Amino acid sequence: MVERYQPDCLYCAHTEKLAANYIEIEPLHVATVYLSRDQTHPGRVAVVLNWHVDEPFQLSEVERHEFYDDVAHAAEAVEKAFNPGKINYGTYGDTVSHLHVHVVPKKPGEADWNDSFVNNPADPKYLSDAEYQDIVEKIKANL
Ligand SMILES: [Zn+2]
Repeated sequence: MVERYQPDCLYCAHTEKLAANYIEIEPLHVATVYLSRDQTHPGRVAVVLNWHVDEPFQLSEVERHEFYDDVAHAAEAVEKAFNPGKINYGTYGDTVSHLHVHVVPKKPGEADWNDSFVNNPADPKYLSDAEYQDIVEKIKANL
């Protein structure tokens, strides 16, 4: 039996660190979409499974399909809202093991095109609350 809640996990426990780095946009079927406060890539979100597993293979086949359907749905909403041209997907678990996917819009020709995105850039781009709200509304309108 896989533990479905870990009290020391920022996504399970909705810690202050989560709020410092992400703004909740909307729950989907089995995952929730969060706006990254780092908007180096406009529209960047994270899609976070609504319960704790470390690895996709710990999900049932149905749960896994639902999770990646939610990821694709969120990515399509970001594409419609921002027209970046390409979406990159980042799944890392060495810092936070809770299954989540970074959905990172990339524009062909931009400075870091052809480079992997940096999950925690040295010079993150933070916005005002009103600017975050505008982005949240643009994405929500397409979810
Ligand atoms: Zn967790």
